[in-house]
Amino acid sequence: MTNNESISLPVPAFTGGKKAITHTKIVGTPHQEYAEIFIPGKEELEDGEMRVTVLGSGNPWPTRAQASASILVEVGNPEHDIFIFDIGSGAIANYASLKLPVNALNKVFITHLHADHMGDLITLSGSLSKVGRADGPIYVWGPSGTEPRLGTKHFCDSIEKALAWNNAADKGAINPDSQRIVASEFDFSKTQVVYDANGVKVTSFPVVHCISGAVGYRLDFAGLSFCFSGDARPSWPLVRACEDGVDLLIHECFPPAKALAVASGLSIERATMALNAAHTSPKAAGHIFRMVKPRMAGLWHTLLSSQIIPMIFEELSSVYEGPVVQTQDMTVFNITKEAVFARQAKQFDQWPPIPGKQSVIYTPVEEEPPEWWADELISLD
Ligand SMILES: [Zn+2]
Ligand SMILES: [Zn+2]
Repeated sequence: MTNNESISLPVPAFTGGKKAITHTKIVGTPHQEYAEIFIPGKEELEDGEMRVTVLGSGNPWPTRAQASASILVEVGNPEHDIFIFDIGSGAIANYASLKLPVNALNKVFITHLHADHMGDLITLSGSLSKVGRADGPIYVWGPSGTEPRLGTKHFCDSIEKALAWNNAADKGAINPDSQRIVASEFDFSKTQVVYDANGVKVTSFPVVHCISGAVGYRLDFAGLSFCFSGDARPSWPLVRACEDGVDLLIHECFPPAKALAVASGLSIERATMALNAAHTSPKAAGHIFRMVKPRMAGLWHTLLSSQIIPMIFEELSSVYEGPVVQTQDMTVFNITKEAVFARQAKQFDQWPPIPGKQSVIYTPVEEEPPEWWADELISLD
């Protein structure tokens, strides 16, 4: 790839760009013509199609341009199942922008328990139950740790306990069953199927990241597949999980250390340490893509700026020349047998929540107010 090609990359959405950041937005030949920009609410998912949307492409410090870690997968089965992989701060706001039903968002897969991967679980549990998430609990799948207190179950139980005031305050107004968080904790160290229903299979595999207890996932549906690294240094279990091919591999990628230091304010030593100890450089991501050979590759969890993006593509291109997208918030991939297509979604900044279909009818119950309110409430009648 020449420098000229690098320069011709689309600019990030937060600087006015409208396109996915890639030289190759389509792999294969789609059987339908996709609009240049994905307009939420305007495109039904076809039977057997998969749509992957990056809700949070960013960093432990969420910004208005980049929410923290989160990826949404919709599948074209009769149930129109929705899965969310990680739920970092800001993910829920981007979910609302997709005009998808709140009540359908009840299956959460956590890669690891760094705060930038689960910060919005409180919002999903405590707040979205007010606007439609009414049928029942949130189901969370996630890895064990090396001891119970480091595992997903302990985390979910603790969040539920920490929401005691929130849930007491909303008692009577909403279905108490929707305030529950039900954890399915699995052994982090094994590659194994952790979910299998309605034609969708999710497999977890261990990855190397900070300490034990981080995993990546692969989702299979109707002969299509999506693999997600979570936070990871280059790890063999991910490569093995993709052995029989994968349609879309989204792998984390931190900017080159020099760029990270300048953009984050970290010293070059600390930036190098953060990158090498826990994450993947563009060149290392390129090596993974070269081994896996996905139909389409995506870089993710990347601090984005107009200066950093060409540096990433330049470093990556020294080892990998296949199709790759530098994902940003609201990058959408449509995956079919014929093609993988990447583009940006139009964002709706103030879209009201859509409750969605509800199968559990709950009749609100009026609660008795505290006695002291009778004296202290200012009556305006
Ligand atoms: Zn992490
Ligand atoms: Zn992270």
